[in-house]
Amino acid sequence: MIHRDMICPFCGCLCDDLVITTEGNEVVQVDNACTLGTHKLMGAWKNRLKNPIMRNGGGWRDASYEEAIEYAAGVLLDADRPLLYGWSSTQGEAQGLGVSMAELLGGVIDSTTSVCHGPSILAIQEVGHPGCTLGQVKNRADLVIYWACNPTEAHPRHMSRYTTYADGFFLENAFRDRKLIVVDVRKSETTSIADEFVKVKPGGDYAVFAALRAIVRGRADVVPDTVAGVTKEQLVRIGEMCKEAKFGALFFGVGLTMAPGKYKNIRNAIELVDELNRYTKWTLTPLRGHYNVHGSNEVFTWMTGYPYAVDFSRQIAFYNPGETTAVDILARKECDACLIVASDPGAHFPKACLEHLAKIPTVLIDPMHTVTTPLCRCQIPTAVNGIDAGGTAYRMDGVPIHVKKFMDLGYPSDTEVIGRIFEQIKEVKHP
Ligand code: SF4
Repeated sequence: MIHRDMICPFCGCLCDDLVITTEGNEVVQVDNACTLGTHKLMGAWKNRLKNPIMRNGGGWRDASYEEAIEYAAGVLLDADRPLLYGWSSTQGEAQGLGVSMAELLGGVIDSTTSVCHGPSILAIQEVGHPGCTLGQVKNRADLVIYWACNPTEAHPRHMSRYTTYADGFFLENAFRDRKLIVVDVRKSETTSIADEFVKVKPGGDYAVFAALRAIVRGRADVVPDTVAGVTKEQLVRIGEMCKEAKFGALFFGVGLTMAPGKYKNIRNAIELVDELNRYTKWTLTPLRGHYNVHGSNEVFTWMTGYPYAVDFSRQIAFYNPGETTAVDILARKECDACLIVASDPGAHFPKACLEHLAKIPTVLIDPMHTVTTPLCRCQIPTAVNGIDAGGTAYRMDGVPIHVKKFMDLGYPSDTEVIGRIFEQIKEVKHP
């Protein structure tokens, strides 16, 4: 059977032109996806758990969905300060239920944003977001900057669908007519096709943004001969290219958000874009990783006013990144139970956080055995969004897309499992 116009549930590009061929419950061909998307759709999902598992002494035993869901609800109800973490690789519908559940429990809900583009959101809250859709970039942008990211490897179709190789309404031959500047601390696959590669010393991004702002404002005289390893000559050339562009688009990755300077880097980037908008049209977009991490920020914000790290312990929504973020709560050993949904903190969090996760009752909702599994007391496998579950996801530019399922393997979706846990919590809290 051939399924057309399917969505790739891997990265924030949410490519929506996939053609997937199935035979029974097997995916036999995926057309249009990149290697990452193809790998996920062709087979990585096959290694999922067959049923929920629960700790049995030092080992594991199989459990029914009823038993595992009842255990998860009991753990959350017994906790004084439960942490609900993850939410970036699941449906918007599940994210909404998670927020309602955290509110009723008086717990904290945080998404993987706090360890990736959290600083971007802090900067946007301070100085605004001059953003646009990826369609605008494809059709209009004649100059693109990738700063501290490597889309060729992390978002492999970003350049072919929206920038370097994507012809648009106003760019009939994009590869010839659209200029590409790549700023990074090292050479990469992406730098090899750039018109200008700007090699910045690690930690020097803030200074380079500040120098470019001065140059764009006509104050090149205050810029020293080199800034963070970049010559003034190259900076002046880039400043001129940016001013002369008809429409410029700046994309950046976690190489900027997690470098020294953190959210101040992004603030300076936004202010550079603001400066350039006095001469021409410029926009800025974070390159989001997990396919629906942007959705977690949207859903949390509609429901609470805050995009991540929302703490309901005061009976109202409270948000203070650095205090209410998952890593900080775990490092302080503050939470006494944890529900992890569709993420793998075992592979990313600091050791002290993982030690605490292993000590408290932690429940994982995830289709596959992951690095987080050994830290948990119970794991509930679910359907994979975009394969055997459907739901809403937000592309990196904020466009909501309905992710369709194309097969049914009998697993409940994240939305269904979280809904059933929430129902049991409501029965106790609001009998
Ligand atoms: Fe999937 Fe991202 Fe590749 Fe598109 S670029 S096919 S969304 S992994």
